[in-house]
Amino acid sequence: MEISLSSEFAAAVPEMAVEWEAIPVERPELLVLNEPLAKELGLDPAWLRGDGLPLLVGNLRPGVAQAYAGHQFGGYSPRLGDGRALLLGELTHADGRLRDLHLKGSGRTPFARGGDGLAAIGPMLREYIVSEAMHALGIPTTRSLAVVSTGATVQRDEPLAGAVLARVAASHLRVGSFQYARNTGDQDLLRRLADHAIARHHPGSTYVELFEQVVAAQATLVARWMLVGFIHGVMNTDNMTISGETIDYGPCAFMEAYDPTTVYSSIDHRGRYAFGNQPIIAEWNLARLAEALLPLFADDEDKAVAIAMEALGTFQEQFERAWMTGLQAKLGVSGDVKLLVKDLLALMQENHVDFTSLFHRLGAAARGDAEPARSLFLDLAGIDGWLARWRELEPDAGAMDRVNPVYVPRNHLVEEALAAGADGDLGPLQRLLDAVTAPYGERPGLEYYATPAPQDFSATYRTFCGT
Ligand code: AMP
Ligand code: MG
Repeated sequence: MEISLSSEFAAAVPEMAVEWEAIPVERPELLVLNEPLAKELGLDPAWLRGDGLPLLVGNLRPGVAQAYAGHQFGGYSPRLGDGRALLLGELTHADGRLRDLHLKGSGRTPFARGGDGLAAIGPMLREYIVSEAMHALGIPTTRSLAVVSTGATVQRDEPLAGAVLARVAASHLRVGSFQYARNTGDQDLLRRLADHAIARHHPGSTYVELFEQVVAAQATLVARWMLVGFIHGVMNTDNMTISGETIDYGPCAFMEAYDPTTVYSSIDHRGRYAFGNQPIIAEWNLARLAEALLPLFADDEDKAVAIAMEALGTFQEQFERAWMTGLQAKLGVSGDVKLLVKDLLALMQENHVDFTSLFHRLGAAARGDAEPARSLFLDLAGIDGWLARWRELEPDAGAMDRVNPVYVPRNHLVEEALAAGADGDLGPLQRLLDAVTAPYGERPGLEYYATPAPQDFSATYRTFCGT
């Protein structure tokens, strides 16, 4: 099969694209293939399963390792880049727009530093599951095309089986890409990178408009995460896109018992990326993007700073609006729900109420059966008082069902699917994918996928970044 991959990124900013070949994979074995996505990209699934399999591990053609910088947990690294990843090029999606085809786990590159350039099956399957669940929830995200096991051994705390993830994105331009370009001091490079981003994502925009669009996209993205209880886990500036897609599912997780201080990442000791901190961190990251873009905003630095501050100053309000609009929809009501939301979240926190279950069960409550929702609370007087206030607003149960998912990739379900997958049993992974890629509306037989983790699991659950 002929595939036409373009190299627009490499052509626009060759200084930030190191041509590189993936490590040869002797025995590639397809673990999971996203057939609908393959077709949308004009790739024949039958070919990918056969002669095209080498494409999915980078053995059909070379790619480029992309340079980027980034603030990791607040500390700046001027040179990160694709240490174990390659951009194979861009494909045209059925919607007429370009998508990056990118590999993770394809071997060491000049950006690998101390890393081995590899990925283990578990974390690549995790990214596959969670990104496809996010997509089904309507949340902008990179997509997963395939996970292929390589037959190589990857040494982590224990020896693990290796894999390559084929990922698809509107682009892999990150806040850290602009930090890298700015840091070189080469203003022409910075301008070419910004022109490339504009052509790719917001044709015709000015540099200031580009920044405003990233601010808007990130404000709504983070609100959407939080409306489904999602914690990204490692919101470093190299893990924040210009497109507004969620990227890099490492130590991410879905919160069960509502608590804004929830952290799952094993390396986030100070809770920098806790659930409730995500808007502030996004705004902080966008300030780093603004710093990188300043020379493009205006020749006069004071003027450029003023422009940046004004655009950034809209973030909080845009986030609040998206969050409140989303909560109105989740509660099936309109009008000012600020106080109602505040009181509900306080009750949920005090009573350790499962985030996803409650909003789903409120649908039944809107239809007159409050018992399933009530039963999640110990403080019955508290929730009864709240339910009475809410019912006066005449919630629309049908509308609620369309925005409150029943099935999200709960942490224990993901871990169970990964453990089985690493042992060669892909059944649990397929069943979990079936549940979370059609998240709305209860389906008989899938109760297991709507049930919170047993308490002993939740008490100790951590996700690991050393993926
Ligand atoms: P991440 O935490 O996945 O966003 O990665 C942060 C940085 O570390 C990026 O520059 C990655 O390319 C790099 N990196 C992560 N894991 C590895 C690895 N096993 N080998 C080489 N580089 C890696
Ligand atoms: Mg990353």
